[in-house]
Amino acid sequence: MSPKVWIDGKITDPRDAKVCVYDHGFLYGDGIFEGIRVYGGKIFECKAHMDRLFESARAIRLVIPLTPEQVCKAMEDTVKAADCRDGYIRLIVSRGNGPLGISPAKCEKPSVICIVDTITMYPAEMYESGMAVITSSVIRNHANALSPRIKSLNYLNNVLAKIEANDAGVPEAIMLNSAGNVAECTADNIFIVRTVGTMPEVQTPATSDGILEGVTRRVVMDICKSVGLSMVEKTLQRHDLYIADECFLTGTAAEVIPVTKIDGRPVGTGKPGPITRELISAFKKKIREEGDGR
Ligand code: PMP
Repeated sequence: MSPKVWIDGKITDPRDAKVCVYDHGFLYGDGIFEGIRVYGGKIFECKAHMDRLFESARAIRLVIPLTPEQVCKAMEDTVKAADCRDGYIRLIVSRGNGPLGISPAKCEKPSVICIVDTITMYPAEMYESGMAVITSSVIRNHANALSPRIKSLNYLNNVLAKIEANDAGVPEAIMLNSAGNVAECTADNIFIVRTVGTMPEVQTPATSDGILEGVTRRVVMDICKSVGLSMVEKTLQRHDLYIADECFLTGTAAEVIPVTKIDGRPVGTGKPGPITRELISAFKKKIREEGDGR
C-alpha cells in the first residue's frame, strides 16, 4: 500500500497534494468530511457514508459537484492506485477557494479530496485489555449551534476535549451535552451494557442527545438485533456510566473498543465484559465477510 490522494479528478502522491490557503475549509472549517474503512479491497458501508456526506452537505448548503456514484468511483480509483487492501479513506468536501471574508457566496467551487492511507486510533493492546477514559468538562456543541449530526470540518469542540483527555493521561474523553447527559466521545459513539431484570441490555444515547449518527454505531446496533441482544437508544446520565456492567466505543477508525475505566472508576469487573467481547468478534466477522472473506 502506498498512500494516494485524489484532488478534483487527479490522483497524486501525498507530498504533491496541495490545497490553496484561500480555501474556506482551511480559513473557516467550512466543509464536511467522512472517514471510511477499506476491508479486503472493498469500501465498507459505502452507501451509509455517501448518505451522511450528502446530508451533511445539504445541512450546510454546500452543493457537491459530483453525484454519489462519481464520489464512489473516485474513492475506488484511489484505493486501486494506492494498492490498498485494508486501509482508511478520508473524504473531504470544502467550500473551496474564495475571498478572505467569511461569506461563502463568492467561493468558486467546492474542493473534493479523497485521501487513501492507514489509520491507528488507539494502541493495539487496549482492544484486549480495555481503555481508560474521562468525562470532559468541554460540553458537546449544542445541536442548534452546530449540529453534531453534521460531520463538519469544524472539530475544535472535539479537539478541546481530546486535549483534556491527553492532559489526564488517557486516550479518550466522553463529552456530555448541554443538558448534562452523555453524548459521545471525541470521534466515537459510546455504548454501555446494563443488566435489566436478569438480562443484559445494550444502551446508547439517542440522536436527540446530540451525537453524530455513527455508521459503526448502526452496524453494531444491527449486530445486537441479529444475535438477539436487547438494544435501546436512550438518554444516559454520567451516573449510568458509573454503574454500567460494560462499556465500549464504536467508530470507523476505532472499530469497537472496550472501555474499562471511567473517571478513575473501574467499569464492571474492570475487564472487557462478555457482551463487548461477543460484539467485537461479531464485528470482526462482518468486516472479514464483507471484505474478500479472508
Ligand atoms: N462521533 C464523532 C464525533 C465522530 O467524529 C465519529 C467518527 N466519524 C463517530 C462518532 C463515529 O462515527 P462512525 O462510526 O461513522 O465513524
